[in-house]
Amino acid sequence: MKVFSDQDRQSQHDPSGFLVNGVMQPNPETPERLERLLDGVASGNHQVQSPADHGMGPIAAVHTPAYLKFLSTVYERWSRIPDATPEIFPNIHPDSRTASYPLSAVGQAGFHITDMSCPIGEHTWEATRWSANCAVSAAKAVAEGESMAYAMCRPPGHHCFSDLAGGFCYLNNSAITAQYLRKNHDRVAIIDVDLHHGNGTQGMFYRRDDVFTLSIHADPSRFYPFFWGHAHEVGEGAGHGYNLNIPLPRGTKDEGFMKGLGDGLHHVRAFAPSAIVIALGLDAFEGDPFGGLAVSTAGFAEMAQMLAKLGLPTVIVQEGGYLCDELGDNLHAFLSGFEDGLA
Ligand SMILES: [Zn+2]
Repeated sequence: MKVFSDQDRQSQHDPSGFLVNGVMQPNPETPERLERLLDGVASGNHQVQSPADHGMGPIAAVHTPAYLKFLSTVYERWSRIPDATPEIFPNIHPDSRTASYPLSAVGQAGFHITDMSCPIGEHTWEATRWSANCAVSAAKAVAEGESMAYAMCRPPGHHCFSDLAGGFCYLNNSAITAQYLRKNHDRVAIIDVDLHHGNGTQGMFYRRDDVFTLSIHADPSRFYPFFWGHAHEVGEGAGHGYNLNIPLPRGTKDEGFMKGLGDGLHHVRAFAPSAIVIALGLDAFEGDPFGGLAVSTAGFAEMAQMLAKLGLPTVIVQEGGYLCDELGDNLHAFLSGFEDGLA
């Protein structure tokens, strides 16, 4: 299948740290992830291409102007602060997101960044923009007739809301993809199989009935992102009934994961989408450093076959999945499994 990746540009984002249990640790969302994922792609019969520059239109279709202005300008403004650090971490947050919008870089960082996992460095915006270009290029390929395409997005996107970065994510690539597909499709479903709940994606479509959002993930009662991803969150207003969360107990293995996915796919079929976006986190793997669920490498192939059986035009968007020996193998298993499922 067609694969879109821009390793040089996407690798420029190299965050130093994130806060874990009160301690600053090395940030696991490293450029090396791309090397491992490219190794996985090289194991299959895929055509790797550089994405085109699609400009700001597809991004601005789901993100607010203020947020995009913030992302694209804040580093330069932050750098003018005497003794500023080389990366932006927020040190203040509003008590509610309806609070007044500040002019200062420090204040805006607090408004637009929800946690301590996504510092903004000199090249973050450029890398993030090209990660999104991978998603749009894959969506365009499918819109023009490919049955499937894979976007090697990094940094990932599904924790990012319309105006709020979080969980290593700055632009929501899966949401950008779904919105792009809406040009040709009345109903699009996003199926998120990342270890973590796709809270940003849920938030962006929570009041809409044209994009169905399904997320299968480790139970957030005691796991990131904590405040979203619970089964009672079903959408609001016109979107009531168009969001489905399937939280799984920690340590769930293949059998439990596939049962959850099978249940979710019943709802997706009932929604009758004509295209799907798969938010492909590989961090549900049993050997992933986050250690939340226990899907095997063979499990990723099985998961992909189940998704391929929907028989719909599909854009696969990379989300999480962190450094472990099997990261490339797991991607290869998924992409091969998807192609096998179509056959
Ligand atoms: Zn994740």
